Amino acid sequence: LRSGVERLGDMIAGASVIVPFTGAGISTESGIPDFRSPGGLWTRNRPIPFEEFVARQDARDEAWRRRFAMDDTFAAAQPGRGHRALAALYKAGKVPAIITQNIDNLHQASGFAAGDVVELHGNTTYARCIGCGKRHELDWVRQWFRRAGHAPHCTACDEPVKTATISFGQAMPVDEMRYASQLAQNCDLFLVIGSSLVVWPAAGIPMLAKESGAKLVIINNEPTEQDEIADLVIRHDIGETLGPFVGN
Ligand code: NAD
Repeated sequence: LRSGVERLGDMIAGASVIVPFTGAGISTESGIPDFRSPGGLWTRNRPIPFEEFVARQDARDEAWRRRFAMDDTFAAAQPGRGHRALAALYKAGKVPAIITQNIDNLHQASGFAAGDVVELHGNTTYARCIGCGKRHELDWVRQWFRRAGHAPHCTACDEPVKTATISFGQAMPVDEMRYASQLAQNCDLFLVIGSSLVVWPAAGIPMLAKESGAKLVIINNEPTEQDEIADLVIRHDIGETLGPFVGN
């Protein structure tokens, strides 16, 4: 491990444009469970596909009940060592923007400007109408749910309101995918942190970076789908690996 971390330090020092790409694993230290590890969200609940959310009020009610059940977890979550190390590289001018599959807002909380966090799967700290796209705050959704006993419809167009996340079966955000691709094609070091790289099309972005000439580093405590094409794989805890870069 020591030599892996040393090599990572050398690669960071030698790179001029670094693009991080994060997944649920960077936020487990912050108390947010990931998807696929034992005890992760998937082992407890089958995800609700987008078409079910659109079609059925009971699916929407269930989706919102699950989200409310996570309220305390998201409210208590603070950036961990991984988030802080990446924010330090951003402040140092080495990281133009960060690509994330996470929906927890913790990169913004660690110091990234909102415009420099490319959220491939959206954000669960607010909601949007699936018809007109109007933003709604979660407090409003909670009040509606309490009053009406079911999930809300948009005040502007009456279509269902959903967390501002991308569900299975829902279209990927076009601008974010384009910007992520540009970033991947224009960096010399691409850091995958805490992703099993099984969710597509997001998992295509690290491959694009590698094909475009960037060095590819993967930090994850279990094997990922792209370990064979990586220049360096650190199979270890993220906080312990990146903590030393911010002095803890
Ligand atoms: P994933 O659950 O498929 O993979 C996470 C990986 O991180 C796993 O391989 C796990 O072994 C590893 N990991 C967990 N904690 C770690 C640690 N402390 N150190 C090192 N490795 C660690 O997650 P994914 O690839 O991001 O895909 C799941 C999808 O679920 C994402 O697209 C995302 O939208 C969503 N999701 C987001 C959050 C969040 O926002 N925090 C949480 C759960 C799921």
